Amino acid sequence: MGGFFGAVSNAPCVEEIYYGTDYHTHLGTRRGGMAMSVEDGVIRRRIHDITNTPFRTKFNTESLELFDKCTCGIGVISDDEDQPLVVTSKFGTFAIVTVGKINNIQELIDREMADGLSHLSEYGSGEPNPTEVAAMLICRCSTLEEGIARAQKCIDGSLSLLILHKGAIYAARDRFGRTPVIIGRRENAPGAPDAWAVTMETSAFPNLDFEIHSELGPGEIRRITPDGVTVIKKPGKCMQICTFFWVYYGYPSSCYEGVNTEVARYRNGASMADQDEEFKGKIDSICGIPDSGISHAIGYANRFGRPYQRAFVKYTPTWARSFMPPNQNQRERIAKMKLIPVESQIAGKRLLFCDDSIVRGTQLGDTVKRIYQKGAEEVHMRSSCPPLLYGCRFLNFSRSRNEQELAARRAIAELEGTDELTPEILKKYQVHGSKEYLAMVEIIRKKLNFTTLKYQELDRLLEAIGVPKENLCTYCWNGCDASLSEDKKEGK
Ligand code: SF4
Repeated sequence: MGGFFGAVSNAPCVEEIYYGTDYHTHLGTRRGGMAMSVEDGVIRRRIHDITNTPFRTKFNTESLELFDKCTCGIGVISDDEDQPLVVTSKFGTFAIVTVGKINNIQELIDREMADGLSHLSEYGSGEPNPTEVAAMLICRCSTLEEGIARAQKCIDGSLSLLILHKGAIYAARDRFGRTPVIIGRRENAPGAPDAWAVTMETSAFPNLDFEIHSELGPGEIRRITPDGVTVIKKPGKCMQICTFFWVYYGYPSSCYEGVNTEVARYRNGASMADQDEEFKGKIDSICGIPDSGISHAIGYANRFGRPYQRAFVKYTPTWARSFMPPNQNQRERIAKMKLIPVESQIAGKRLLFCDDSIVRGTQLGDTVKRIYQKGAEEVHMRSSCPPLLYGCRFLNFSRSRNEQELAARRAIAELEGTDELTPEILKKYQVHGSKEYLAMVEIIRKKLNFTTLKYQELDRLLEAIGVPKENLCTYCWNGCDASLSEDKKEGK
């Protein structure tokens, strides 16, 4: 998916941007980059390949010296295209980073080319670069502000961005607020200059002495300078923030819409335990599938009254980040190498695991096999969210979300005897506890060899998060999203 960070101050702030960007490493796997204003109108930029080496080690002292004394800049961790891009335009030179997904990218290019656009240049991967397309849409308008608003409006998918322009940062949150964009303020911190920052993950703030100042609303645009923050475009009314930030993607110490990720996961785990009264006395210990399953499992264990134990530990010294090779087999191999079973916590025990979600299930199936090989008596699984039935149409994920491969879809196809899963068919399986739902869960349970399998109910998950549920995107579980009716109103 990717993440970004920016900072502006009256004093040099390259370290803030460097560390702030690095704190988004868990959100992307391919490229890491920084761009900073070095003197009036001049922007310097570096992009590194981070597929097998962390962002921080790529930006060695030498490349940081390039930005020495810079007081304004942006950085990005990208799951896909090369970023930041530096663009010379009628507005002057600017640097841009984006997070989102442009479903209608070719249609937008064709439309602008029919209307006089002569070329795009970032075709090194053989595909259009979405950040360049966003920059192109912006430059087709008469002001930067108008351009950002227009790009947000005509993109089917989502677009959050930072633009570095003339010593200021423009921050824009996508039209329906899928991704968080949060402003931080550092004031009177001993030994550090006053500064403003903008981030997707607030976990980037505490160690850099920033406090959360405010959060952009859906579609909102702000301009940040050392002197303060100006609202350029007010937020829209319809918010559909990605619920998966709390389930899986978000860093545990981050907050979005005022709700901390760790706390939401803990509450969700406790809520799952509340539904497992019948298992009291039948489970020896509770475990989490690292990383995000752990917070749900701790919440579960504390409510359930059985100890939380680590059946697996992650080998962090060399697998410090989510290295994602493009090949699925390699990905699964690496996922396996990262997790080391702790045999003495497994052998002879009835274990209950919490995982954030079940996507394809192949990796989880392999993990369960290893748990049995190490002598577990029973392996109960609790998924912290409902069965995934729809691929995400709003954000780009490196985690496989091919709809046909989703474990729940495969189970339904087996039950229905067809791969043509119409909305009517899928609807029956979405109803938690319906006979179709239970049959689907049973097929997955058998396939993955769990003693028991339960999925958290959608309403309970939303309740555990605590953000008003009409503001949360639930498309990947029920195919519903308020933005789709908003688009319809606007004739899209
Ligand atoms: S469809 Fe799922 S993953 Fe995509 S934005 Fe909505 S909640 Fe997030």
